[in-house]
Amino acid sequence: MSTIYDIDKMETLRRQAAVQPHGMKRFRNALFKNGQSWDAALEVLPEEGRALFSEQIVPECLELRERHDSAVDGASKLIFQTKDGHLIESVVLRPRTGRTSICISSQVGCACYCSFCATGKMGFTRNLASAEILDQVTQANRLLKSEGRVIRNVVFMGMGEPLLNLNEVFASVDFLTAVPFFNLSGARVTVSTVGIPDAMACFTGRFPSVRLALSLHSARQEVRERLMPQARRFPLDMLRGALVNAAGNGTVMIEYLMLLGVNDGPEDLAALVEYLGDIPVHINIIPFNEYAGCSLQGTPQSGREHFANELKAAGFDTTLRYSLGSDIAAACGQLVKHKKEQMHGTG
Ligand code: SF4
Repeated sequence: MSTIYDIDKMETLRRQAAVQPHGMKRFRNALFKNGQSWDAALEVLPEEGRALFSEQIVPECLELRERHDSAVDGASKLIFQTKDGHLIESVVLRPRTGRTSICISSQVGCACYCSFCATGKMGFTRNLASAEILDQVTQANRLLKSEGRVIRNVVFMGMGEPLLNLNEVFASVDFLTAVPFFNLSGARVTVSTVGIPDAMACFTGRFPSVRLALSLHSARQEVRERLMPQARRFPLDMLRGALVNAAGNGTVMIEYLMLLGVNDGPEDLAALVEYLGDIPVHINIIPFNEYAGCSLQGTPQSGREHFANELKAAGFDTTLRYSLGSDIAAACGQLVKHKKEQMHGTG
């Protein structure tokens, strides 16, 4: 059986059922732009088309297992189960600025083992297929329809390192930005990476207008290695060339998670300012969601504000991000980790 993301199969069925191109366009819009259910989308097709598509297409690759809504800030965490029984997370964010966003997963678990990340403590299971990546967006749109919302921004910042699943992530970004499907502009799609220079070059070559976010978290090599083991393979000096190349398109964000006593001191600030130099980037200062099993603590808000103000004074475009979904364990991987522990009796 094929999925709704199999473009060739959908076109073959369209021809077999003699659905006119404008009818197919309405069908695609119902599925990908308007958050309609599968049954409602089928209604726009002629009758013989409905039967054929129903027989040969699987409308969903993931099963929504749980939904946790924040009581404080409009975030919702969704836990999906893949057909082979793995759990992944997505987080819907409804910021006050109005643009509904979704943070999606690209892998089951992760092989990068960042010390601050709950997903990193699970190990790696497998890559997600592009259909499984895209289904997180489609299903979130269906949930949001009753609120009159639609996903406006997609961020690859959930479980997994997207640039270690290059083919499937590239296929997903193609689908998200294609006019006939989700039709999101490159500025509305962000792919976040721990920093894999070759893959970053490949990404920016293929998608020059799509945003790339580099999880830097420290411009001091020894600190970065402690936080992110991948930094040993891809040290800061190697990463800088890829960063300069990517920033040439004006689409790079620097993610900086602030950890108390780890990367928030004057020497960290000085190293960051020196490392970034005149590279045209936007810096995002991120609060840390503390969780059981991780001894790291977040820098208090006053410390984050001071750090951000110093960066602004040094001429960097800087944003202070506020935590969303802290009451629903919105940090990447927390809920799935907890659920797996419950299932295996260790929670
Ligand atoms: S922060 Fe991202 S890359 Fe690092 S372990 Fe977690 S999911 Fe993997």
